[in-house]
Amino acid sequence: MAERDGFFPQTSQNTVKRLPQRGHYDRATIYPILDAAFVCHVAFVQDGQPFIIPTLYARQDDSILLHGATTSRMLRHAESGGALSIAVTLVDGIVLARSVFHHSINYRSVVVFGHGRLIDAPEAKTAALAAFTEKLLPGRWDDARPPHPNESKATSVIAVEIESASAKIRAGDPGDDEEDLALPIWAGVLPIAQHYGPPIPAPNLAPDIPLPDYLSDYLDRQNQNAAP
Ligand SMILES: Cc1cc2nc3c(=O)[nH]c(=O)nc-3n(C[C@H](O)[C@H](O)[C@H](O)COP(=O)(O)OP(=O)(O)OC[C@H]3O[C@@H](n4cnc5c(N)ncnc54)[C@H](O)[C@@H]3O)c2cc1C
Repeated sequence: MAERDGFFPQTSQNTVKRLPQRGHYDRATIYPILDAAFVCHVAFVQDGQPFIIPTLYARQDDSILLHGATTSRMLRHAESGGALSIAVTLVDGIVLARSVFHHSINYRSVVVFGHGRLIDAPEAKTAALAAFTEKLLPGRWDDARPPHPNESKATSVIAVEIESASAKIRAGDPGDDEEDLALPIWAGVLPIAQHYGPPIPAPNLAPDIPLPDYLSDYLDRQNQNAAP
């Protein structure tokens, strides 16, 4: 299928076959899911053996950034241009149907396909490390000590251009069969939201260092968004 503006073309690789009405292919749906999660699972095949590795990531425009020790098998595979599939999952609720068969979970998930490329130009590498740090906590890059050259050297940064992607979203109520609706069994959704606890200062933190504003602001924003 030809690419529409803002949409990834649908191919046999990325088309959601099971419950296709839950599939989405537009960046406007896919990118907010990528931006909301912290952890992805990177899958690749080496010598016929599949591996899957959970790791942090950040999205930079149309790429997923991965980083870590230069010795990582996953990063070495990515650096060599190997094919990758990357999954991100947000869990929104437990769906309790009257029948066991219709129990489910509300979720937003994304599957990305692409190939890795090492980012080694110093300026681009610094920008990628900044994107990583800002993904963890906006405002942190300008506050934290920048990487020493030896720390930067020990870290591989990979960009995976998002060549193809899909989102799959389940939302809403249980889908019980008509004949089960009269059963005397509680049915509904138990929502799950990500909640941030109060910050715990490092035990060796000097007592005169206050909580940064960008951290307390972030906390307020996130916990307001998570409120049911
Ligand atoms: C938290 C969670 C729990 C789930 N639990 C179950 C379960 O218990 N049983 C079950 O059968 N399924 C479950 N699913 C759905 C599951 O992810 C698959 O969509 C489904 O099993 C079909 O798999 P398949 O191998 O036939 O995919 P195919 O239809 O062959 O996949 C084709 C393409 O569709 C896209 N795609 C498929 N699934 C997803 C997805 N979830 N997100 C984004 N893109 C996708 C990918 O691009 C993939 O390459 C769950 C999903 C999530 C996120």
